Amino acid sequence: MAKKTIITAAVTGAWPKKENNPNVPMTPSEIADDVYSVWKAGAAVAHLHMRDDEGNGTMNTDKFVETLDLIKTRYPDCDIVINLTTSGDIHADDEIRVAHVKKLKPEMASYDCGSMNWLNSGLFINSPKFLEDCGLLFQELNVKPEIEAFDPGMIANAAYYLKKGVLKAPLHFQFCMGCANGITGSVKNLVFMKETMDSLCPGSTWSTFGVGHSAMEIMYAAVALGGHLRVGMEDNVMYSKGVLADSNAQFVERAARVIREFGNEVATPDEAREILGLKK
Ligand code: ZN
Repeated sequence: MAKKTIITAAVTGAWPKKENNPNVPMTPSEIADDVYSVWKAGAAVAHLHMRDDEGNGTMNTDKFVETLDLIKTRYPDCDIVINLTTSGDIHADDEIRVAHVKKLKPEMASYDCGSMNWLNSGLFINSPKFLEDCGLLFQELNVKPEIEAFDPGMIANAAYYLKKGVLKAPLHFQFCMGCANGITGSVKNLVFMKETMDSLCPGSTWSTFGVGHSAMEIMYAAVALGGHLRVGMEDNVMYSKGVLADSNAQFVERAARVIREFGNEVATPDEAREILGLKK
């Protein structure tokens, strides 16, 4: 049987604006429509951030509620796995970062396994207390953490929380490659991230993306190494050098082609649930 590869679509993130690419979805309505179109194109997981009315990243619970309601009412057949960020605003306090998770109990939510400087402009703090509370909360609510690792130290940190019982095996990682202040995006570095994960947290699943010019290199390498893929405007507003992306679906369609050309199959949402061990 062909191996199934999961495509996660990260449709908006907290940073790109309409002036960077007019096709970035910003409002709950635009985000809901994009979730439907990426699902149609083959995405099994939607990783969601929200924007405030000025287009800045926000952790406002009402925006998450409104968006999920719109997806449900407009597109009742859309069975995509919902993965909500806990890091959509570096100024949000720890309580507000998980308020929407408590209310909506999504199947997955992001778990950023360490602190770093963010885009050379601010501090992205994930304190030991936040990571402990968040890990235990996710267990209590049966929300699968997507462990975002921006460098190999964050994988070691996940191994520590696994040992402490804050996280439960099997873990699922998202290797974030090529972000400023994180590990640079190269095949060699991706192999190192995977090997670090295999030795410290054996039996884990993983996905990855490369920002900017490393996007394609990381995508092809990930498929070859047996990983899953994340694509979308959170990570790239350019489809290729000098060409703005038309839509999030365009990224998903390309990822699906790469997966199929390699000889794998694109995982459906239910297959992704199986692979990731999500709640029934
Ligand atoms: Zn995100």
